[in-house]
Amino acid sequence: MNYKAYNIKTFKELNEKEKFLPDNEMKEIEIASLVFPFKVNSYVLSLIDWKNFKHDPIFRLVFPQKEMLKPEHYEKLIKNLDKKEALQKAVYEIRMSLNPHPAGQKENIPEINGKKLEGSQHKYKETILFFPKQGQTCHAYCSFCFRWPQFTGINELKFASREVEVLIEYIKANPTITDILFTGGDPLVMSSKLLRAYIEPILKAKIPHLRNIRFGSKVLGFWPYRFVSDADSEDLLNLFKEIIDSGYNLAFMAHFNHYKELESEVLEKAVENIRKTGAIIRTQAPVLRHINASSEVWENMWKRQVALGMIPYYMFIPRDTGAKHYFEIPLYEAWKIYKNAIRNVSGLARTVRGPSMSATPGKVAVTGVSEINGEKVFVLNMLQAKNDEYVDIPFFAKFDEKATWLDELKPAFAEKFIFER
Ligand SMILES: *Cc1c(COP(=O)(O)O)cnc(C)c1O
Ligand code: SF4
Repeated sequence: MNYKAYNIKTFKELNEKEKFLPDNEMKEIEIASLVFPFKVNSYVLSLIDWKNFKHDPIFRLVFPQKEMLKPEHYEKLIKNLDKKEALQKAVYEIRMSLNPHPAGQKENIPEINGKKLEGSQHKYKETILFFPKQGQTCHAYCSFCFRWPQFTGINELKFASREVEVLIEYIKANPTITDILFTGGDPLVMSSKLLRAYIEPILKAKIPHLRNIRFGSKVLGFWPYRFVSDADSEDLLNLFKEIIDSGYNLAFMAHFNHYKELESEVLEKAVENIRKTGAIIRTQAPVLRHINASSEVWENMWKRQVALGMIPYYMFIPRDTGAKHYFEIPLYEAWKIYKNAIRNVSGLARTVRGPSMSATPGKVAVTGVSEINGEKVFVLNMLQAKNDEYVDIPFFAKFDEKATWLDELKPAFAEKFIFER
């Protein structure tokens, strides 16, 4: 398949020929895409069942919907459609009202010898996140994405860095770091040549405490040809081998939202090629209304992933950003989806943890609902914490059927939560 990316303008032209969408739907998506980033490609389009597009999870995943905007915001855009400056102002204001920086993403920026690593984040002692400058885009955009400000040209919000030398200096000085996680956007949209420019200096530095190199990527869902037939597919796979031959564990953190992304032949081939390099693929995704909020979807997804040799890793609760009101489900619902899916899969898929909130104090999992001395409570557990003393100590919150995020919960049997004490 030829890679062809579409923005809203070029997709509209395509749509005039192909008639995927009726005009009114096309118009609504055009308006929603003023606020939410839009990008799609030939492969993602081929996954969508256009006869039934309204209920197609992949359609919902990449096409911003009218309902993602609050009615007053939608009206405001409609009113200003023909006024360039007023429209720009409206778009900016709406975006700013959508909490573009949830859960302190701008905190935890590391520093070494007076130099800030602007393109990095170091929140948990073992793992440093690195956002390579040219990896701040994706092969298509997820409509729910919490990294959406990076794609919309709000420059002051963009994390990016070419400072791999400073990064190495920092890792060397911090012996607790065992993992570097390349993330984005999607670092694997970069050419293998560019990736090498980041990876090779790290391999050369031979930092003894650095053991694991991870890539967080949605390429397997959005463009599996990346590992099959792109001009530099082979070089990319060779780079993976070189990482492993240098003694590192290479963890491919793959983002899949629905089992529909796991059914194509090219996906199977891509997974096979990656696994042949010795890399381990672990999978993660948020649970989202309109896309995957059912236990059948997760059960099927995990079963399929295991059958293909991948390891289910995290189920996330979507963050408080963008069109949260459209995608969110109560914590209680998310936990039920997890529980009803996990009990139908073998132990090989029960490696997945969650549903988990990446909140300011750390990753908080909803472990379950219980009744203690007649009081109904959520049992919570920190999977990751800024302060590692809190990891894996169960704690309690008052049961709340409607709560969708940690900040809506109240502690039970205590004045404060474990991370507030
Ligand atoms: C999730 C996360 C990581 C990686 O955590 P693991 O549990 O080791 O996969 C690292 N940094 C941040 C900021 C994270 O949110
Ligand atoms: S692939 Fe990841 S970073 Fe890219 S749009 Fe989707 S969620 Fe966001």
